[in-house]
Amino acid sequence: MTQEHKLAASSGQQAEQERPKELPEELLEKRPARAVFLDLDDTLYDHLTPLRDALREVLSLPSDFPYDRAYALFRYYSDLISEQENLSAVPDKEKVAWMQKQRFIRMLADFGINVSEERAGQLQDAYLGRQFAIQPFQGAVELIAELNRQGDLVGLITNGAGPHQIAKIDALKIKTAIPAGRIFVSGVVGIAKPDPGLFGHVNRMTGTRPEESIYIGDSWRNDVAGSLAAGWTCIWFNHRGAEPESELQPHHVAADYDEIRRILLGS
Ligand SMILES: [Mg+2]
Repeated sequence: MTQEHKLAASSGQQAEQERPKELPEELLEKRPARAVFLDLDDTLYDHLTPLRDALREVLSLPSDFPYDRAYALFRYYSDLISEQENLSAVPDKEKVAWMQKQRFIRMLADFGINVSEERAGQLQDAYLGRQFAIQPFQGAVELIAELNRQGDLVGLITNGAGPHQIAKIDALKIKTAIPAGRIFVSGVVGIAKPDPGLFGHVNRMTGTRPEESIYIGDSWRNDVAGSLAAGWTCIWFNHRGAEPESELQPHHVAADYDEIRRILLGS
């Protein structure tokens, strides 16, 4: 039981009195109609490009290598190990460096390619060097601008270490469209997707409600499961034609930004 819960349990009446009053009518009218939050990696930009270039440079893999499949496995092992080691919420530097090599080793092993830890380190360095040569998906910047214009509250929720994720957001040049107060990075908050607590934190910090909040993300495990558990509306951005990973039902599925646009704006 947390300190807060203990207080509430031991003094119900006091907790009742301390509850904030409803916002006055004029402030309620100024509330945004909707909150629309996006994931960063492979939702706002194509995350396959830096991986493919690193694999081609370090291992001289051919152009017809199944990079899509490699990317899916790479992300799978990255998320799996991060979750097992609790690295998204508590990004211990040494453990993260180990995970970053392990995901290359395990992904490549699935293609029958065995690489040493040293070679995995070279791959990670090459991959990292390309992390910031990124561009938003076609239509993403325009959509965010239009949502802002019509009064929606637009933000980002991403798993990872604070400075690293912020450097990518800087590279995408979207900071004028999405102010810092609406960017939530798991390593900074201390809670990671798919924990619905992160989405609840975002609602509290932005004065929004789950029932008026929409989340757009590519990861079934982190984005679909997390946002649904938090009571948000979920748009699964399935631009790589992945299969659902469980019985969960996202509210919408979109394969590109035109479809996301139709879902959010109707045109
Ligand atoms: Mg993602």
